[in-house]
Formats: sequence, structure tokens, C-alpha cells
Amino acid sequence: MKFYVLTLFPDMIQNGFQTSITGRAAEKGVLSLETVNIRDYSVNKHNRVDDYPYGGGAGMVMQAEPVCRAYESVAAKLPVRPRVLYMSPQGKVFDQKMAEELAAEEELIFLCGHYEGIDERVLEEIVTDEISIGDYVLTGGELPALVIMDAVSRLLDGVLHNEESAKFDSFHDNLLEYPQYSRPEVWRGKQVPPILLSGHHANVEKWRREQSLIRTRERRPDLLETAGLTKEDKKFLAKLEEL
Ligand code: SAM
Repeated sequence: MKFYVLTLFPDMIQNGFQTSITGRAAEKGVLSLETVNIRDYSVNKHNRVDDYPYGGGAGMVMQAEPVCRAYESVAAKLPVRPRVLYMSPQGKVFDQKMAEELAAEEELIFLCGHYEGIDERVLEEIVTDEISIGDYVLTGGELPALVIMDAVSRLLDGVLHNEESAKFDSFHDNLLEYPQYSRPEVWRGKQVPPILLSGHHANVEKWRREQSLIRTRERRPDLLETAGLTKEDKKFLAKLEEL
């Protein structure tokens, strides 16, 4: 997987990405990141990339031409037209299903806006997906791009140490994950659930599945409507309803 990020703050992207697990995966060559500074494609002698909005109003707008040229500098190198993801509070809200879908791509271009956003005309020309990370407004698209790259990266083979761990995370099957415990067995008087020390693999799995169901029912009942529930899961949930 190769990520390209069109941004006015390439250091922010590089610093966020190179730290931790994504950086390690980049070192191993499992994925790579290239940042493109939109300011390098300014068509203004003062290197400006923003201007006043037509029609008046607060703030500045990123101009179409530098954004388009930054995009073309990447697109010219690629054999097929890549997906271009514009980070935007007006986009489709990002979720695990989208992360899985994006993880199947070979290349992804992220476009990060700033100020009041980007001239609509260039968005119409180059953007294939408009994605939001939630119903709140940030100052720029860099944090959303890092969030999405992180969620996508950890689904790629060779990124996580234990290939299994992404499979059981929250939202797999549309259920929240069971609670996790590590050493010591007793911490400040609190005991690890004894079943986890039993060594009985099948019973541990059953307990974890039930905990997932209990948690999802308590914290995110909306997810149960589209969760991948087995007959046993449904029976267990029905029993909970009777209590
Ligand atoms: N005026 C714009 C509007 O009301 O839709 C908001 C612009 S925002 C201050 C500047 C940039 O931050 C956007 O162009 C976008 O790239 C990014 N951004 C802000 N909030 C975001 C969110 N929730 N998800 C994704 N990107 C976001």
C-alpha cells in the first residue's frame, strides 16, 4: 500500500506516521508514505495558496490550481487513476467497514484542506471520496488523514505483529471487543476473571464472545442490528432480556 498525502503541513503527517506501528511497517517496506506540499505548487510569487472567498464571508479558501497541480504530480506517476480522499466534515463518516474497503487499494491519495476549505471546482475534478472522521470541525485535514491511514494500515498483512489481533478488535462482526487483562493476576485487590486462567480454550472463547455481546448491548445496542450473530449469540441475548 502506498499513501500519498497532499497537505500544507507535511511535517505533521510525517511525524505522526513515522512514530509507532505505522513507522515500523514503513521501515519494513509493508507500506510507504509520500507527502506532497501543496505550497510547492503555488502559482503566486509570494507562495500563497489561499485567497478570499467569492461572495464575501469569513476566512480564506485554498485555491484550485495549486491543489490540482499537487494532485497531478502524483497522478502522473501512477498507472491507473487512484482514489482521492478529501478529508471533510461534510463527507461520509469513516468507520471500520470503510477502513476494510480502503485496505484493498494499492494506492490512496489523501487531500487535506485548511482555512474555510478548498475551491469546489478542483474537488469536482479530482476527488473520488469525501470522508469525515466525525461530526465536529477541525482546523485541518491532517489529523483525519492520519486517523484513516492508521486504521487502514493495521489491516494490512505484516503491519501488526500478531496477525490475529486485528480480527478480534471491536467492530469485527460489528461487535465491541471483550475486556482485556494482563499480569499481575491480582492488581490492587482486583482479580482477573478466573476463566481466563483456566487454560480451557473453548470456554475462554465462549466467555469472550458473551462479554462482547454484553458490552455491545450495553454500550452500542445500535450495532447489534447489523452484527454477524450466530444462533447461540441470539439465544444468549434473549436470555439477557429475560433478566
Ligand atoms: N468550512 C468548512 C465546512 O464548514 O465544511 C470547514 C473547513 S475546516 C475548518 C478545514 C479543513 O479541515 C477541511 O477542509 C477538512 O480538510 C478538515 N476537516 C475539518 N473537520 C473535519 C472532519 N470532521 N473530518 C475530516 N476533515 C475535517
